[in-house]
Formats: sequence, structure tokens, C-alpha cells
Amino acid sequence: MKVNGKTNGMIEEIRTKLNGSGVAHLEPETTDEDIYGENHIGTSIETPLRDDAFVLNDADKMEIIQEHFTKILLTLGMDLNDDSLRDTPKRVAKMFVKEVFSGLNPKNKPSMSVFENKFKYKQMVVEKNINFNSFCEHHFLPITGKAHVAYISAGTVIGLSKINRIVDYYAKRPQVQERMTVQIADELKRVLNTEDVAVIVEAKHMCVSVRGIQDESSTTVTSDFQGKFKHENTRQELSGYIHMELKN
Ligand SMILES: [Zn+2]
Repeated sequence: MKVNGKTNGMIEEIRTKLNGSGVAHLEPETTDEDIYGENHIGTSIETPLRDDAFVLNDADKMEIIQEHFTKILLTLGMDLNDDSLRDTPKRVAKMFVKEVFSGLNPKNKPSMSVFENKFKYKQMVVEKNINFNSFCEHHFLPITGKAHVAYISAGTVIGLSKINRIVDYYAKRPQVQERMTVQIADELKRVLNTEDVAVIVEAKHMCVSVRGIQDESSTTVTSDFQGKFKHENTRQELSGYIHMELKN
């Protein structure tokens, strides 16, 4: 029998593989993973993905996540016969694959049409207060915040809403804020073919407010200044624009 173009055998094989390497064992001693997770440190600029990350299609992934989330709820002791809970595993699976983690899949990367800078505008372009929602990869709790993005054209420009889309794409992954900041900057450099980009992200981490230290008010700021944005006067100019308020 074929499901989504794959034989049951293939799906079973991947399931077995996932079970083999994907299940963490609770060990009493502190592991490297604890050290990274508790300190919210990422290990690389690339999102850590398995080589076979996209062998399964979305439907297969949702089916497997649904099964696993059912087990989590049952393990917690919840009664899935309750009408309110019955479809929760299905909803969570769909939300993970199609919404909050859809940015893991390169096929969901926004298409970037670039234009020639016909106006010969040589100043910086700033897209500020871009709201985003992401998830901390250490605790799977929300990170919510704003990104401010700037670039100086080296001959190419993009539609402003595309900058919002790039931010959204990289936010929709299990993330580390520092990594997301650099990923957005690197993508803009690539698309715009310029070194002169800056990204500033300010965010609130639910894992800091609802667990651990339980600090309700702190926010985390990360930045990546590249090319001309490494110069003090360019940074000052950007800072001025970010703090500037529109007077109605
Ligand atoms: Zn966290």
C-alpha cells in the first residue's frame, strides 16, 4: 500500500530510525545538552537539521507527530476521550508542521524578486518594528519580539514586505535568538548582494518568564552589524531611525 507516494515499508523504516536516535534518555548527571539548553546557547549558525529532514512529506510528519503527542498527553495522565482534548494531538501536529515550524522547510522560503535600484538611492533603507513569533529550541516555548532590519543598496533592492517575510521564515523554526539574527542578516546579504546589512532583534522569551528564573520583564537584544554598519556613524544613524517616532 502506498501512502503519499511512499510505501508503508519506507515510512516504517524512518519511524524506526527516529525512534532509535530521537528519543532522549533522562540521565541524572549534567550533560552538554543541559549546559547549552539552560544557558540558551546555540551551537551553530545553521539550524541543526538531519540529512533526511525532508524525506518525509508534511502529511507523514503530521501523522507521526500526532502519534507521539498522543503519547505525551497520555503519559501526563490526560484523558483523550474528553471532547476538548480528543483532537489536540492532531491540532498540535498541524500547527508544528504547517505553521510555527514551517520555516524549517526550504520549500517554504519566500521567493525573492529583486529589482535594479533605478532611483540610485544610496542611503540606508530601514524596515523597523517587524513583529515576529518564534520558539526557543531548548524549551519549545514562544519567543516574541521585534526585528529591525537595514541595508544599503549595492545596486539591488527588494520589496519592503519581503524583508518581513524573511524574518517570518527564519522565526518559524525552533530557534536561538542569536542564530536567527545572523540567519536573517546572511540571507539579506545573499539576496541583495551587499555586505551592508544590519539586523537588531529584541525579544521576550517565555522560557525565561514562565519557568527557570521566572523573570517577567527582561528582554533580550541581539544584533548583527555587517559592512558599513560596523562604522560608528552608520550605527548612530540607524539607531536614530529606530528610535524615531512618527508624529501624526
Ligand atoms: Zn528556552
